[in-house]
Amino acid sequence: MSMPAGSGVITSDSIRSFFRGRIFENEPLAPYTSMKVGGPASLYLEPQDRDDLVAVIRHFREQHFPFLMIGRGSNMIISDEGFPGAAINLESGFSDVSLVDGDVVAEAGARLTKLVDFCVQHSLQGLEWAAGIPGSVGGAVVMNAGAHGSEMKNHIVEVEALRGTSIATVKTEDAGFGYRTSGFTQDIVLSARFRLSRGDREDILRRKSEMMARRNATQPLNMPNSGSMFINPSGTHAAHLIEQAGLKGKRIGDAQISEKHANFMVNLGSAKAADILKLIDLIRRTVYQNTGVLLELEVKLIGFSEEARASLS
Ligand SMILES: Cc1cc2nc3c(=O)[nH]c(=O)nc-3n(C[C@H](O)[C@H](O)[C@H](O)COP(=O)(O)OP(=O)(O)OC[C@H]3O[C@@H](n4cnc5c(N)ncnc54)[C@H](O)[C@@H]3O)c2cc1C
Repeated sequence: MSMPAGSGVITSDSIRSFFRGRIFENEPLAPYTSMKVGGPASLYLEPQDRDDLVAVIRHFREQHFPFLMIGRGSNMIISDEGFPGAAINLESGFSDVSLVDGDVVAEAGARLTKLVDFCVQHSLQGLEWAAGIPGSVGGAVVMNAGAHGSEMKNHIVEVEALRGTSIATVKTEDAGFGYRTSGFTQDIVLSARFRLSRGDREDILRRKSEMMARRNATQPLNMPNSGSMFINPSGTHAAHLIEQAGLKGKRIGDAQISEKHANFMVNLGSAKAADILKLIDLIRRTVYQNTGVLLELEVKLIGFSEEARASLS
């Protein structure tokens, strides 16, 4: 099968001639996201190891074939048309968490829950705030995920990333970390090294449970969602502005602004990405009219046309 996309032409058979991991064609992406919306990717790949990943990335770059790194899909909305390129997931080949000279090294495809549990097991404290964030280490590094006053960059000493076609080790101070952003948006994060202090395991477990309980009490975790849709503007909370605008509970199709947390949207069953985009637009317009604050998206919009993006006021 041959697939024109971007300016390149890729055949899955030609990839299979050198790629050892799993490949699916025309793979629906909704199941790979926490919001459970979105169409298919032309190709979906799970590289087996670094050589496999580097070879396929080199091939895509040479062919100008678009690709998308997808972790646990908990911070992205994929368009109903899907992604016209390759979605690459590192969960199967890159999910080790280990101790190296007293530091914790976690591969990008490992789930954050696995990392947090590993730290508890080894009585290492500091990452309890990440308990309950349903992302991967790679996604959390790229997003500089954070909660309860802490964030990834506070615990990371260095990140290994594929830059272009070579592997770079980037120290935290050079990583461009900011509020829910980093300098890795054009790279492929391979692993991160965390420096944590020793603590009492029972205390660590207690803090982890408290933070999970706080999430359960305040977030609509029983329905598909993408976490916070908008970044908090300085000095206030997006949820507060959305609630003040009277939009809590507002519904378009099966997409709804959560009744429990106004900065969350939930999928009531068969929401379309187009409905979510309309709600995003409604929120931004209404909050702007009310307060003069233009809310910025935290979630990444994937596969939307320029026209659809431009329709956002
Ligand atoms: C219920 C819920 C609660 C949440 N709570 C929080 C919270 O408290 N704090 C917070 O910060 N976030 C929170 N989030 C958002 C989200 O979980 C985090 O941003 C998470 O770290 C994203 O990880 P992911 O693997 O799902 O990334 P994805 O959504 O898969 O990807 C996010 C971005 O990272 C890129 N990416 C993913 N992996 C790689 C890689 N290996 N290399 C390069 N780029 C990559 C993607 O292309 C995309 O641009 C929450 C989400 C949900 C659903």
